[in-house]
Amino acid sequence: MSNKISAVRGMNDCLPQDCDLWLSLEKIIFDIFITYGFKNIRTPIVEKTNTFCRAIGQATDIVEKEMYTWTDASGESLSLRPENTAGIVRAMIEHNLPRTGIQKVFYQGAMFRHERPQKGRYRQFHQIGAEVFGTDNAKTDAELIAITYALWQHLCLKNITLEINTLGSSESRANYRKVLVEYFTKHKSQLDADSTRRLKTNPLRILDSKNTNLQTLIDNAPKLIEYVDKSCIQHFEQFKTYLECMHIPYVINTRLVRGLDYYNRTVFEWTTTDLGTQSTICAGGRYDNLVEQMGGKACPAVGFALGLERLILLLKTQSLLTTKNTLSIYIVALGDKAQLKSLQIAEQLHKTLPNLIIYNDIAMGSFKAQFKKADKANADFAIILAEEELNNKQISIKPLKGQGKQKTMSLTNALNYLKEQL
Ligand code: ATP
Ligand code: MG
Repeated sequence: MSNKISAVRGMNDCLPQDCDLWLSLEKIIFDIFITYGFKNIRTPIVEKTNTFCRAIGQATDIVEKEMYTWTDASGESLSLRPENTAGIVRAMIEHNLPRTGIQKVFYQGAMFRHERPQKGRYRQFHQIGAEVFGTDNAKTDAELIAITYALWQHLCLKNITLEINTLGSSESRANYRKVLVEYFTKHKSQLDADSTRRLKTNPLRILDSKNTNLQTLIDNAPKLIEYVDKSCIQHFEQFKTYLECMHIPYVINTRLVRGLDYYNRTVFEWTTTDLGTQSTICAGGRYDNLVEQMGGKACPAVGFALGLERLILLLKTQSLLTTKNTLSIYIVALGDKAQLKSLQIAEQLHKTLPNLIIYNDIAMGSFKAQFKKADKANADFAIILAEEELNNKQISIKPLKGQGKQKTMSLTNALNYLKEQL
């Protein structure tokens, strides 16, 4: 084992130069949720392993092989959350929140899955997601799509497709499962090892296989939609009508089944062709039985999660990486007296212009050295405090971008001048 200190494989640092983008992206997304009437929810990163097993399902990739699980000192099995829906459902039940009406919540945070790290796939990654509890109306499903669509439009994202499907009720799914198992058993010799295993554990997931040799077999398999009951078909039609009335384009993908067990009725994914195999940016669906299945009062629900790393990769691929343009100034101060004054002025600026970024020089180098640092910080203006300014109770402001000239004025005038620029 190497002595060199390093992060855990597949778990990445987000360094200061990258965090501007993360912060502005998170803010954009949070603001969209808030304007759609959602409230933030935060649940622990660690839950009892059983919470995930009950919610996500034993025969899923996540529970079978991707969870970070350990036994704590009291002998209880705990896991790092691989997703947040299970924890939120647990919290909804524990605090009996749906009793007060429809709950619209959004979350953000790190998730953990022991997968093979590659571009767009990590062992610690970040999701932002939303869940709505207490209604089975397809209008809610459509509103969740509208939120994600608004986000893509805000970011000017291209090459992103909405795929939708319906899984029907749990009964119709069970019927379809039987037919599907019969079909794949008949063609068992053509299946690969993964699909042979799934035939027993989670046959619907075979439809999701990325193995190109299986594509014809999968294309010819019976279609889930033919087994979906009438009320679920109606729900799906309603959902599509709502999307159409908002002019949100979609394609129906009858093979879309999602990896988790808890879904029924609506499922959807936003996919892109720009990121290779890690093509799903955002995914979700309805899970009307999960709350009851986990021990709560029956309560329909729907939600989605979007992968921030993949979204950022996509933004990078499409050269859409503009962070919010906040004005910044660099205070150049020469001499001990000027240092004191620079702290006082910085405080005043922070108070009067709360959105201004202020870099206050620390090293007290020469003028030239300080201006160099101002350029490096990409500041828009320099405030200059030297002997002459201090003696005259004035400050100088020099625009560092464009053709503007240096001006000397009182602090009050300087504050007004900067206010005009903001
Ligand atoms: P995939 O099929 O790519 O493994 P998934 O079905 O396991 O995805 P979900 O559980 O639906 O993914 O999670 C929602 C989103 O979270 C995904 O669409 C993706 O953007 C992101 N995501 C999932 N797993 C990872 C990971 N290991 N690293 C980075 N992002 C991930
Ligand atoms: Mg996965």
